[in-house]
Amino acid sequence: MPSLYVHIPFCQRKCVYCDFYSIETVSLMDSFLDALETEIALAAPAGEGVSFDTLFFGGGTPSLLAPRELERIMRSFRSAFVIREDAEITLETNPGTVSPGKLRDYLSLGVNRLSIGIQSFDENELRFLGRIHDAGEAARCVGLARDAGCRNVSVDLMYSLPGQTEGEWERTLSKALALRPDHVSAYSLIVEDDTPLARMVSAKLVSPNPVEAEASLYERTMELMEEAGFEHYEVSSYARPGFRSLHNSAYWSHADYLGFGPSAHSFWRPGNGEPPLRWANVPAVSRYCDSLRKGGSPVTMREEVTPAQMCNERIFLGLRSSGVDLRGLGDEFGLPADRLALAGALVDDGAAVLEGGTLRLTARGYMLCDEIAARMMV
Ligand code: SF4
Repeated sequence: MPSLYVHIPFCQRKCVYCDFYSIETVSLMDSFLDALETEIALAAPAGEGVSFDTLFFGGGTPSLLAPRELERIMRSFRSAFVIREDAEITLETNPGTVSPGKLRDYLSLGVNRLSIGIQSFDENELRFLGRIHDAGEAARCVGLARDAGCRNVSVDLMYSLPGQTEGEWERTLSKALALRPDHVSAYSLIVEDDTPLARMVSAKLVSPNPVEAEASLYERTMELMEEAGFEHYEVSSYARPGFRSLHNSAYWSHADYLGFGPSAHSFWRPGNGEPPLRWANVPAVSRYCDSLRKGGSPVTMREEVTPAQMCNERIFLGLRSSGVDLRGLGDEFGLPADRLALAGALVDDGAAVLEGGTLRLTARGYMLCDEIAARMMV
């Protein structure tokens, strides 16, 4: 399932926890669009003979794009690549940046999935996180998406905020569920390095939630989502039947993807027996634009992915989603016997199930996913 990703590197204001690359102004939007157009055209030969199943507008804040700007990007993609008629086209949407007309225009340009960054329905939490919208705007955004005709709406939520009680998290989750989204991503708040949140923690202005509290909020999330009829198909992702994110599922199944824009990553098997490649663009809008304007490349890292890396990535990605095909992995890379013994121990322990040679984590296993992956990797 080959995929396309584009990183829109602008935000109205940075949230305290965020370590994604973006700048707090759209003043470089026109230069960015020129550079993006060039980058997409240059990549066209790589995608020859491939038809793409998903296109994802991430960021940053893609919903800062005016419809005519989105139209320009869509035109570039469609003239460089074959994008399937029924491709999933997702646009990450910040509730503080939308209007009914804008969402209608996005959909008329081919967007068919809106991923709305809500994070919380608690005003104090939203202020703490530095979000630009309030709870009312977040709820209205879901309604506007439906009114505009969007039939695939995902919402992003965040739990385990400092001091957050189970009751507070449940209130946010139940308000989100009352809006009847098709998909929910619920992430625990991570203190990423070099963020304002990390500085608040080092200055002892904020204490992260203890691990046990986070684990119990996660457990409660899984219970409530299951009761609400959602499939838990990845550590942090829950979907109504038929509404799994195809784009993210492509990442988790180790499919090829081409990424565009500052800080975007790509993973691509060139074919002809050549090793898979991974590369990343410079995480700076002005350098990204300059290099493309001067006929150069915005890529700052490029590597061949070794068989050991491929094996480990497949383990890591499989464990956090629909499982690891141990048999296939063994045939392709030769899995050490002690890893198979570990898989057996995980099953005995109730942390995983083994179905037709595929090891899949249970809810209990998901809670220990990183630890298990570290032990399984070769
Ligand atoms: S809006 Fe999204 S990308 Fe922008 S700072 Fe907040 S979390 Fe990060």
